[in-house]
Amino acid sequence: MDREHLFMHISKMEADMNSMHDDLQTLKELAVRLVEENVTLHMEKEKYEKLHEEDETVEEDSFKGNTLNSIYEEGFHVCSVHFGTLRNGEDCLFCQGFLEHRGK
Ligand SMILES: [Zn+2]
Repeated sequence: MDREHLFMHISKMEADMNSMHDDLQTLKELAVRLVEENVTLHMEKEKYEKLHEEDETVEEDSFKGNTLNSIYEEGFHVCSVHFGTLRNGEDCLFCQGFLEHRGK
């Protein structure tokens, strides 16, 4: 190997190493960005899961309220005094008070 060839070889290796160094920097920046994105997505996910749980609780509560209303409409007591017994077409102040209180 002549001297000129040797120096050419060394400078080519140097250029390759610089290029590898640049690639490594780019990969490092990309890794940091991916980790940041991952953390953000994880936080978003938790936020939506929490919102979803709250939605389900609200739906459940209104479902219970509607069920009690329709039981009363069908002619049964929903008050604690006569719960489940027939009203015989009579309005019950306990039931109405109970349903009205629940509606608020
Ligand atoms: Zn009643």
